[in-house]
Amino acid sequence: CGIVGYIGHREAYPIVIKGLKRLEYRGYDSAGVMLFDGENLKVSKTKGKVSDLEERSSKDITTNGSIGMGHTRWATHGVPNDVNSHPHLSNSGELAIIHNGIIENYQPLKTELMKRGYVFHSDTDTEVLVNLIEEVQKKENLKLGKAVQVALNQVVGAYAICVFDTKKPNEIVVARLGSPLAIGVGENEFFIASDASPFIEYTSNAIYLEDEEMAIVRLDKGLKIRKIKDDSLVDPYVQELQM
Ligand code: GLU
Repeated sequence: CGIVGYIGHREAYPIVIKGLKRLEYRGYDSAGVMLFDGENLKVSKTKGKVSDLEERSSKDITTNGSIGMGHTRWATHGVPNDVNSHPHLSNSGELAIIHNGIIENYQPLKTELMKRGYVFHSDTDTEVLVNLIEEVQKKENLKLGKAVQVALNQVVGAYAICVFDTKKPNEIVVARLGSPLAIGVGENEFFIASDASPFIEYTSNAIYLEDEEMAIVRLDKGLKIRKIKDDSLVDPYVQELQM
């Protein structure tokens, strides 16, 4: 199980795929990738290895883009198959999420969302979370970061997540509780990963999120870290990695 994300000026796809390969040691049963080309969200995912994903995505992802996310899954809810692989999209198709961890209370949340008309395509706990974020965003008219925060405060479990919103194509929102998450800080670019190995060749500046922290990673305004529970701002502590 691993996550990789990129937002910046380079081609995201090769960075994400190479990053997933670096995280293969963590173990997984499926892999997936998302690419945003400035207009459309392209998703490719499959049961199997990152090499299987490369083969599949060469057909699914035909455009280029500088925002991408990738995931290797260790199934906890829902068997390992293509549909249960990440990324998962919200019902509107506007939000994409990758998630390592477990949403323990997904069942009551799912029941509630289904009452409100949400449809689920996978058996994962993760698809519940992305739709919960969407529901919060729509109901309370919130920006992505705030909606993620409100949703996470309704969740019991463990997570490292990356969320992307096609309506806000210059930011990625990440959060952590119990699963590791590192942010590589470059010049006008950010890398996100389960550990620094996917981005060490690009930058030696890394921020390790602590449990119960989230970050809004924004290309124009930089990065803001907050405590998920009480919304207080956290000073980013940038570590110099040994290359
Ligand atoms: N609980 C999620 C799932 O089963 C994420 C598993 C993981 O950590 O890869 O899809």
